[in-house]
Amino acid sequence: MNSQALIAKAAETHFLTEDEILHLLQDETAHEAILQAADSVRKKYVGDEVHLRALIEFTNICKNNCLYCGLRAENPCVNRYRMQDEQILTLAQKAVTYGYKTVVLQGGEDPFFTTEKVVFLLQKIKALGLAITLSIGERSYEDYQAFKQAGADRYLLRIETTDRALYEKYNPNMSFENRLRCLNDLKKLGYEVGTGILVGLPDQTMQSIARDILFFKELGADMIGLGPFIPNPQTPLKNAPQPVLEPALKVMALTRLLLPDVNIPATTAMETLEPNGRIKALQSGANVVMPNITEGEERQNYALYPGKAGAKDTPLSFRDKLTAKLAEIGRPVSTGYGWHKKKI
Ligand code: SAM
Ligand code: SF4
Repeated sequence: MNSQALIAKAAETHFLTEDEILHLLQDETAHEAILQAADSVRKKYVGDEVHLRALIEFTNICKNNCLYCGLRAENPCVNRYRMQDEQILTLAQKAVTYGYKTVVLQGGEDPFFTTEKVVFLLQKIKALGLAITLSIGERSYEDYQAFKQAGADRYLLRIETTDRALYEKYNPNMSFENRLRCLNDLKKLGYEVGTGILVGLPDQTMQSIARDILFFKELGADMIGLGPFIPNPQTPLKNAPQPVLEPALKVMALTRLLLPDVNIPATTAMETLEPNGRIKALQSGANVVMPNITEGEERQNYALYPGKAGAKDTPLSFRDKLTAKLAEIGRPVSTGYGWHKKKI
């Protein structure tokens, strides 16, 4: 197979077979060409604007035990917190003041936040005129329905890996079937659905990553977040090899080639691996940034992995720095809601 021809085919038809994706993933010499093609496709389909989504990490309490995550229930070293309603609503109000159009409410799977409690928060936040993204893990169809009716617009739930055996190894007491059920329910209910994977999990194969990308297409995902996996010393995967940015960038760029009009964030994990990782991602297919507006101790304590970029910034200092960096690369900040506009 000829990589240049495959890249041209992907950029034009947005279709590749599993073997073709695998070939590009394995060809290290094709790296730069894939990133450049993804940048052109991004420009053609979603333009230069960067959509900002203000992230509120409202609880770091989680009943699950994902082997890769610092917030796992069995990690005794975390200073656990759960924000009060007032605190969450104050942050949402600040998001409006800072000029954001979307808030993302993210947290561990914390049973304290019952359907009623989440509905209450959604209704209050919706009244501020914000689009709302939820990222609180696996819930029932009825919960997702109630959240949608209360004003949630989008939902982020990464499949993490479509390798069923690997998924169930790294997510003990969770089932791959239920993860799929959640994503399908969210689609049925009319959410903009975000999914994605961790790139670089131990024992993850390139073939499974090729299948992950095809899965995004099959699901009809609206947003795709790809994180390099960063080992956390307080978790069972602490001895995994040190992560590098390039593979995650390449998977992200291939995702842009095959799903040209979706929203793709330049993730915090990418910035954590390289000081300019976020900008590199924006120049390799990404069109979204999710600035963290969590404040104070909570900001430090939402520690999925060590050295999380921006943990010591304040929401305002981050926004100023980001806007300046975006201006340098000729990327304006969007003033709209940044919905997924389907073009193919
Ligand atoms: N609890 C919800 C869930 O799992 O969907 C939302 C919060 S969870 C912390 C958000 C994402 O963090 C997960 O989907 C996972 O991909 C990512 N994550 C967890 N541990 C990580 C690590 N060590 N390196 C990079 N990303 C990680
Ligand atoms: Fe909990 Fe999400 Fe971390 Fe898993 S990834 S332990 S569900 S916060």
